[in-house]
Parts: sequence; C-alpha cells; structure tokens
Amino acid sequence: MLKCTACGRAYSLRKPYQRCECGEPLELELFKSVPRIGKRVWERFSGFFPFELNPELSLGEGDTALIKAKRLSKELGVKLYLKNETTNPTWSFKDRGTYLGIHRALQLGFKKIGTVSTGNMAASVAAYGAYSGLETYILVSSTIAEEKLKALEVYGAKVIKVRGDYGELYYRSLEIGRRKGIYFINSDDPFRIEGYKSISFEIAEEVTPDYVLVPTSSGGLFRGIVKGFLELKESDLIEKLPTFVAVQAEGCSPICKAFIEGEKKIEPFENPHTIAHAIENPYPPSGNAVLRLLKELNGLCITVSDEEILDAQMSLGSEGVFVQPASATGIAALRKLFERKIEENAKVVSVLTGSGLKTLSHVKAGEIMECSLEKLEECMR
Ligand SMILES: *Cc1c(COP(=O)(O)O)cnc(C)c1O
Ligand SMILES: [Zn+2]
Repeated sequence: MLKCTACGRAYSLRKPYQRCECGEPLELELFKSVPRIGKRVWERFSGFFPFELNPELSLGEGDTALIKAKRLSKELGVKLYLKNETTNPTWSFKDRGTYLGIHRALQLGFKKIGTVSTGNMAASVAAYGAYSGLETYILVSSTIAEEKLKALEVYGAKVIKVRGDYGELYYRSLEIGRRKGIYFINSDDPFRIEGYKSISFEIAEEVTPDYVLVPTSSGGLFRGIVKGFLELKESDLIEKLPTFVAVQAEGCSPICKAFIEGEKKIEPFENPHTIAHAIENPYPPSGNAVLRLLKELNGLCITVSDEEILDAQMSLGSEGVFVQPASATGIAALRKLFERKIEENAKVVSVLTGSGLKTLSHVKAGEIMECSLEKLEECMR
C-alpha cells in the first residue's frame, strides 16, 4: 500500500501511482525486519525492501565506503565520517534509487522508462535503462550545457530538450508517462526513496551517528535517509535517531526559507542561482514532505554560500575525496554548526552525494610548475 505523506490517503500498489490527488508525494509503509548475512546491502537488508531485488538488474550500486575524515574531525572537534557516494556506477547516489525504480517499472509491466533531470539522475536512469533493455526517455531543460548530454548519448537514451517551465515539466512528465506507457522514475518517486534507504542501513552498520548532513534539492534523498533510520528504530536496531540536517545552497533554499519562517508549505524560490547545480530545484516536489519531517523530528535546515561550498570542496580534497559542489554543502554546513556549538566528539556523517569529475570546470585551476627534465631535481627542492 502506498500512503500520502500529507493527507494519509491510501493507494493500491497494483497501479503506477506516484503522487496523491492532493498533490503531495506517496510513500510505502515503514518496514520492520532483521538484517541477514550477505555480501551486498540489498541482501543484508532484503527484509526492508518492497520486493525481491534482482542482482541481474544491478550495476553494482551501494556498499560504498564510510571514510573517517581525519583533518576535519580534528579541526572541528567532532568524529566526522564521509559516506562516499561518488563511487556508485554513474558516480552519484542516484543509482541506488534508480535500481529500485527499474524493478518497479518492470513489475508493473512497463517497457519504457524516463526521468526529468539535468545531471546525475539523467545519467543514472540512462545507464540502468540501457542495462535492463528498456527504452529510456530523458527530458532536459533546453538551456542544458551540451557537455552534460554526452554521457546520455553513450548510454543510448532518447534525450529531449524541453522549452518552458522546468518545474512544471516534472508534473507533465508523469501525465504524459501515464498516457504513453512510460514509467518516469523522477526525483522523489516512492521507490527511489526505498533505494535511498540503503544509505542509512550501511551507515548504521558502522556507526550510530548523532548528526546526518544531507544535501537537499527535490527532497528525495532526505526522505529516503530519514525513512531508513526510522525503520532501523522501529526494528529496534538503533536506540535513538540522529539529528537530520537538510542542507541547501543560499541561492536556492526554498525548504530552509519556509522552515526558518515557520511556514507549513514551501514557495517557489525566486531567481535561483548557485554553483551547486545538482541541488538547484527552486520548487522541490518533496519540499513540503521534508518540511514536515524536519518539524516532527527536530531537524535542522542550514544554508551555505557558494564560497563556503567551494572551500568545503577543497577541504574534502585534502581528505582524499573529490566531490561536486552540491556534495560539499554538508561540510560547509558542519562548519556553521560548529560555530553554533555542536557537542564535542559528536558523531557526524556527511553524505558525499556525487563525484567532482562531473563538474571539473568549477574547480579553480591552481598554478602549475613547469620545469625542464635537466633541472627537474632542482625544481623539486
Ligand atoms: C540529486 C542530488 C542531490 C539532491 O537529492 P534530492 O533527492 O534531489 O534532494 C544532492 N547532490 C547530488 C550530487 C545530487 O545529484
Ligand atoms: Zn494526499
């Protein structure tokens, strides 16, 4: 059974319902189970997923490293862990959700899938669509940089540039999908959320965090991570929930704005502008759902500037991880939390959502030394 995150109305699982008539996203119930022994997170937590997962549809997503951040831990007086999602098959956490979404599309008998995205989710859906032999439609904004389209061509997806309101495209794609038999695995599809839960399971296998920092755009990832921890708690596998911290870019922070102003609903964010393009959704489809979770669970919403983001990106580089700007926002937010006093030695997990190789042009090129072969030893003094 699918249930509305806002009004609680129930919907059958036999049809491809994705959103409630009231406009808000749907969600599966909380699963209660026990972990098993297994090589992959999908096996160890198989009791927490809505159907049996088929390894033949997998490109090897999940089971990413949780890295101890040595320098940043020392600097900030906390125990900081980095959940490195950059090592997923298409270099972002989106693959976990796409893997579940593909199962859902096949279960319902769809032969075609799609998504609305400008970046990481497009690449992810294109790759999994190719691997599972489904016809794949990727709808992008007409202003997209050509560079981003290349990967999609490699995977053989049908890419369509759409002129018009990009926020509206999300809703239109669901309508068109219903008519044309295309299952759109969009940003906060109920089954995408189910895939994202696996991040929480993996974290909990290694540490019991006090804080979890989540870069937040549509709100799908945040909802998935919260649902994962709620299920662990319901199953008596953890004693207490961490404080969930949604992090947004100052230049596009519709959720934090509503949260700080005590509003019940988000409003479209005017003139969004940030270097963190992967989290630049001005009217997030799960914004209201995230807002509710933040209030219910005493979460925090923190905004960070582009400058703070780029600094954080460099700090992560010094820990040996290269992330894209959107993924550095958690560390930028942690610096702010630190100023407001976070308990000493608090255990903090920052989710590093995607790889920096996708946004190379944002990295400031430093000066590079040049030297002749003869003088090389001298140069290296
Ligand atoms: C998609 C994405 C996010 C945000 O996830 P939402 O589910 O849209 O909130 C954060 N970082 C990166 C790199 C992403 O690709
Ligand atoms: Zn509803």
